[in-house]
Amino acid sequence: MLDIRTLLIIDDSAADRKIYRRYLLKDPHQSYQILEADCAEEGLALCQKVPCDVILLDFCLPDMSGLELFDQMQQEIFNTSVPVIMLTGRGDEEIAVQVMKRGALDYLVKQHLTQDVLQLAVRNAIRQSSLQAQLIKTQERQRLIATTALRIRQSLNLEQILNTAVAEVQQLLKCDRVMVYQFAPNTDGKIVASSVEPFCTVAVCDRIEAGDNGTKRQGDRVLITREDFSQSPIPYIYELGLCNCVSLKEQFNTKANLVVPINLSNNGNPTPKLWGLLIAHHNSGERQWQTDDVEMLNEVSVQLAIAIQQAELLAQTQAALAKEKQLNIFKSQIIATVSHEYRTPLTSILAAASTLVKHSQQLDESKQQRFLGIIEQKTRYMSKLVDNMLLVNQLELEKPEFKPIALDLLQFFSDLIEQERETAGDRHELIFKITGNNQDFWGDRGLLQQIFINLMSNAIKYSPDGGTVEFHLVGKESEVIFYIKDQGIGIPIADQENLFQSFSRGSNVDTIPGTGLGLAIAKACVELHGGNISLSSEVGQGTKVTVSLPKISPTGQLSPSST
Ligand code: ATP
Ligand code: MG
Repeated sequence: MLDIRTLLIIDDSAADRKIYRRYLLKDPHQSYQILEADCAEEGLALCQKVPCDVILLDFCLPDMSGLELFDQMQQEIFNTSVPVIMLTGRGDEEIAVQVMKRGALDYLVKQHLTQDVLQLAVRNAIRQSSLQAQLIKTQERQRLIATTALRIRQSLNLEQILNTAVAEVQQLLKCDRVMVYQFAPNTDGKIVASSVEPFCTVAVCDRIEAGDNGTKRQGDRVLITREDFSQSPIPYIYELGLCNCVSLKEQFNTKANLVVPINLSNNGNPTPKLWGLLIAHHNSGERQWQTDDVEMLNEVSVQLAIAIQQAELLAQTQAALAKEKQLNIFKSQIIATVSHEYRTPLTSILAAASTLVKHSQQLDESKQQRFLGIIEQKTRYMSKLVDNMLLVNQLELEKPEFKPIALDLLQFFSDLIEQERETAGDRHELIFKITGNNQDFWGDRGLLQQIFINLMSNAIKYSPDGGTVEFHLVGKESEVIFYIKDQGIGIPIADQENLFQSFSRGSNVDTIPGTGLGLAIAKACVELHGGNISLSSEVGQGTKVTVSLPKISPTGQLSPSST
């Protein structure tokens, strides 16, 4: 079907108007709604009232010249080019040329006017004026998009970028709400920015117009997945609902949303990485999204993707820098520790070894054994120090993999306590108490062993006068708690805060050896389990260190009995 165009004839000759009307209505390529005016005043009034696609204007009118009327129309009505074809008499071409220079689309000499000439001229004028209008609109759109892009890309902070983007797009499209939905690694996702208050996390769409998984019919409920969008670059128009928020779901269910993907470039891979969605939403009235709206939203989404990528790169660089800095601090600490902590045992080893080398003839068997014992003990200490430093380095900087297995905690801790009893000697009494439900626990054996050994060795080491060391295991529904309690030297309050940091030691350790790494190792191991560690202590009374670990299965779910 042809579009109907509105055409206004301003001519004082009724006979001429009739001819033009007849010619134009016979045009097989274009349909017209034709309006007529026989003087300038009436013509002006009409084109003020009705938007005209084209005007046929006689050069000579009773109340004004065609040129004057043209000027007036240009000033008062049309802010862009005037869609006018001037009709002149023979010999008046000069006037026509003047009008053309001022922006008229064409002129025709009345005496030469045939049906074909008129039809063609009017059709051309319509096409030219709509192209001009399109061009102006495109320029305006580009200007708006450029301004929007500039504002979005002014920041390198992701949150700020997203908030600016939604506010700017809302202005650009003049719609009720704009949202950015970000996919999580597991195809789920959440709204990360909204031009109105944030509202929900998961979106469901009602209608997909086309998709590689087959066309979905209106009314089908499907979750928007990463695949839905990455399979095709065409933006879909979704009816978007919210699955876990009933009132909002109702509010959004029937309203049209315009959704375009936010695609990031993918390390030279031709398939972009689907980061999220840019969603424009309009509530009030029946808004029909236009191709223009889709294009604008798509262009903004490209700019947004660039801004997101830059922000992510910056964040990565900052993280790498922070890690580098941490590594440098750690290296300095290693150098300080090596020079400090290694010197004392090395001096002892050296002295014992020299004595043995120089005076072994004069030393009896038991003295020789004592010196060898010193060498062995100090070497073990140094070896432990190296191991601990490497372990802390790995835990703090590389975050080792957490490999949980189902553990029988009773058996596990009984074995460990037994080993401690063998090495602890008679001065300390080790007590083991268990209560509650300790079933269904998944943990990493190696990490748990580190936690236990470090806490238990502290309890024994910092109780030089002996006493009881209690180990309590308390099973709860969704977590297990254990604590180790001694009657040792305790820790001054002022020191307690920093003890979980590497190389931190209490001010009251005196000559008790240690490197200040055990608690840092224990804390990192507890955190890999998703748990917590804390201590309470009083100088001269003793210390209690408490660890709580959630009962989590390898899939990350709470274990069945705890749900
Ligand atoms: P190591 O690396 O050999 O374990 P360390 O025992 O000094 O050395 P941490 O286990 O990290 O290091 O403990 C840090 C500090 O906390 C200790 O130096 C000590 O001052 C204090 N501390 C830890 N546990 C106890 C405890 N049970 N009683 C008293 N002080 C303790
Ligand atoms: Mg220790």
